[in-house]
Amino acid sequence: MSRVGLVPFSTTLYYISSWLLLRTSSRLSILTNNLGASSCSLFFFPGSSCRCLCRSLSGGGLHKLQTMAQPQDVVVRDPEALEKKITAVREAGPIKLQVIADFDGTLTKYWIDGRRGQSSHSLLQQGNPEYDAKRMELFEYYHPIEFSPTIPIEEKTKIMEEWWEKAHGLLIEGGLTLDAIKQSVSCSTIGFRDGVIEFLEFLQEKDVPVLIFSAGLADIIEEVFRQKLSRSFKNLKIVSNRMVFDDNGHLISFRGKMIHVLNKNEHALDMAASVHDQLGDPNGLNNGGFSVKKRTNVLLLGDHIGDLGMSDGLNYENRIAVGFLNDNIEKSLKTYVEAFDIVYLNDASMLGVVDLVTELCSS
Ligand SMILES: [Mg+2]
Repeated sequence: MSRVGLVPFSTTLYYISSWLLLRTSSRLSILTNNLGASSCSLFFFPGSSCRCLCRSLSGGGLHKLQTMAQPQDVVVRDPEALEKKITAVREAGPIKLQVIADFDGTLTKYWIDGRRGQSSHSLLQQGNPEYDAKRMELFEYYHPIEFSPTIPIEEKTKIMEEWWEKAHGLLIEGGLTLDAIKQSVSCSTIGFRDGVIEFLEFLQEKDVPVLIFSAGLADIIEEVFRQKLSRSFKNLKIVSNRMVFDDNGHLISFRGKMIHVLNKNEHALDMAASVHDQLGDPNGLNNGGFSVKKRTNVLLLGDHIGDLGMSDGLNYENRIAVGFLNDNIEKSLKTYVEAFDIVYLNDASMLGVVDLVTELCSS
């Protein structure tokens, strides 16, 4: 019997265990589970029923070996390494922890009532059908490229920059207004994953700051929070592309550096600094509640490989990276599992992450 953490993550055969999220837990345990010819380690929260989903990846193929009833699919590449991180973060306490999260497809659902959920970019109807159609044409061309697993990252980064520049230019040219943003969110197909409120409430209760880094549009994300959650959180800051409107509520420009899906790492320090500026704490040394530089343990949430760059430059001691793999699962699972400590499949809820932060903040 061997544990998954001891099995080489080779190109020929992978044994990947499922990390099962059960909400009634108080402590995290490791069990080894002998599954015939293969074996895997299971992380599970005791006291609840669970099922094992053990997968074998071979040459890019994915074969389910064993499945029992479960609420969500979660894949952990190296349970032992993850356990060490969790222990280190828990022992340091909530005062050392910060959360950095992507917005679209991470805090929000990928599917809503059988339809593809909209992003903070795509939900926008700027009240000008001609320009809405132009932006849709851009989306249809560039979106498959964004999630293509075969295009080199350097090449993809340039293409994404091209997409964002064109889209932002069309918003200005097409005469976007603040009222159009409110109306667009009201009519949109966008929604938070189940458990997001519990997640943010828990972190607020523990005074753990949450930085939302998004390549979308800050003004729209804030409106989504206002309309879909009907509440605000004192520990939450949104760092994203910000619009500048004139006195009549018409968009005239964008403020600061453009943030697209693959360049978040280039702007991490700048974005963190801007948060301190907003808080009147430019050096991050005097505000104990939100000083990201003093909070050396990071829980990172994202749905894109590029999201991992959100923590660059923060000099963290421990980082637990959680990835939501919403699409192209067969093609992208290997990449995601290698990159993230925990990977959620099938548009999972945020409830497992609530369990995780509960564990991280337990004494
Ligand atoms: Mg995203």
